[in-house]
Amino acid sequence: MTEIVLLSTITCPVCGHMKEEVMQTDACQYFYDCESCHSVIKPKTGDCCVFCSYGTVKCPPIQQGISCCS
Ligand SMILES: [Zn+2]
Repeated sequence: MTEIVLLSTITCPVCGHMKEEVMQTDACQYFYDCESCHSVIKPKTGDCCVFCSYGTVKCPPIQQGISCCS
């Protein structure tokens, strides 16, 4: 089995605030509330979740090579 990384640091595209978040393995996070500027962040076009767009680590299904939500 591949080792899955569950910690990802999200950088808010609006204010640049960084926050380490724990990802869920069974669900993708499509919306993310920045705790600093309170913007609701959505993934970029073509990305399945906010971690793929703005995190340091992509979401667990992508790490496993599975296309999760498309
Ligand atoms: Zn922000």
